[in-house]
Amino acid sequence: MDDRRDEHAPSPLHWRTRLIASAPEMRGEFHSLAPAVHRGSTVVFNRLSEAVDDWQQAERYTYGLYGTPTTLELGKRIAELDGAYHCFVTPGGQAALALVSLAYCRGGSHVLIPESAYGPTTELGEDLLAGLGIEVERYDPMIAEGIAALIRPATTLIWCESPGSITMEIQDVPAIAAAARARGVAVALDNTYAAGVLFDAFAHGVDVSVQALTKYVGGHSDLLLGSVSVAHETAYACVGRAHRLIGMAVSPDDCALAIRGLQTLGVRLAHLERSTLTVARWLRERPEVAAVLHPALPDCPGHAIWSRDFTGSASVFSIVLADGWTADRTARFVDGLRLFRIGFSWGGVTSLVMAYPDSSRLGARRERLVRLNVGLEEPADLIEDLRRALDQA
Ligand SMILES: *Cc1c(COP(=O)(O)O)cnc(C)c1O
Repeated sequence: MDDRRDEHAPSPLHWRTRLIASAPEMRGEFHSLAPAVHRGSTVVFNRLSEAVDDWQQAERYTYGLYGTPTTLELGKRIAELDGAYHCFVTPGGQAALALVSLAYCRGGSHVLIPESAYGPTTELGEDLLAGLGIEVERYDPMIAEGIAALIRPATTLIWCESPGSITMEIQDVPAIAAAARARGVAVALDNTYAAGVLFDAFAHGVDVSVQALTKYVGGHSDLLLGSVSVAHETAYACVGRAHRLIGMAVSPDDCALAIRGLQTLGVRLAHLERSTLTVARWLRERPEVAAVLHPALPDCPGHAIWSRDFTGSASVFSIVLADGWTADRTARFVDGLRLFRIGFSWGGVTSLVMAYPDSSRLGARRERLVRLNVGLEEPADLIEDLRRALDQA
């Protein structure tokens, strides 16, 4: 059987060869509403002269790493949403942050990162970037135009993240961007909270806008992807080179899921905003809660800037429990929740909770600060869950 040729087959090729050489057959055009998933590493050409290895070619495909129809479609749709010149898709949000830092920094560069930044961003700076001879300086997220005093001749990049991770400070991004532009320094924003829609990064002067698509665009806690949107050709050339050299491969299957997520982003964000405000306002009235750090509520540092610059709020916020709450009591509260599941990340359909008793960055509040992500459950049930857990703690 193994080496027998099939005498009746129309093709003179061995069946083992035919298993490999058959091209997918198209019966005319296939118009589906769902995005096609094109998997592929190798892209084949009709003749050698077409095999041009140039990542900047918009019309042609060269190699799966530099884009398949599915991965490029996701990038195009995020770019449209962000109002970007171009968007690069990355394997995750952290990969997107690392890509931008590596694209903009060389040995001897100085980078400014807000104290409220996503933890692994800061760790990347203080570990790998420092090891490359890049100096990372942390700054007060509420610094606004005061950033000008920290800019040095060697400064190549200023990071912003608004609201900040866990502590939720809203930054005056336009003031920081104006100071940076006056000195010719690029500004990159982690715009994950805004999902590319609640804060218009480019209208506020940012050069590069990053998202963890893992959060709102994916929206269902089942994929990891990131995006780097650039405002102009200069940023495109800078980030594009690094994107190619680092080999930021993304899965077309994940990209197709993210495209599906984009279709429901509008209704999810609108619903999550309402539910989250209902839960946050209820918590604000509770005697066990000293502060609710939600951008749309006045306890949040930079609330006035949020009112000026954002078009809405999202599903993640933090609470500071009352004076005297110990780490043990906070843990009893977190462990007592049933609908709010204990887990990192946010932006999906499930309500989540996390505490950070060991985070030195939170200072004296670290034993009493709890971050919540509201999902698509009924707010009344979530409030009952919180009421019971607070009472029992
Ligand atoms: C989750 C998150 C990231 C990292 O995204 P991953 O896709 O998990 O790598 C980056 N920035 C912020 C603000 C995040 O919340």
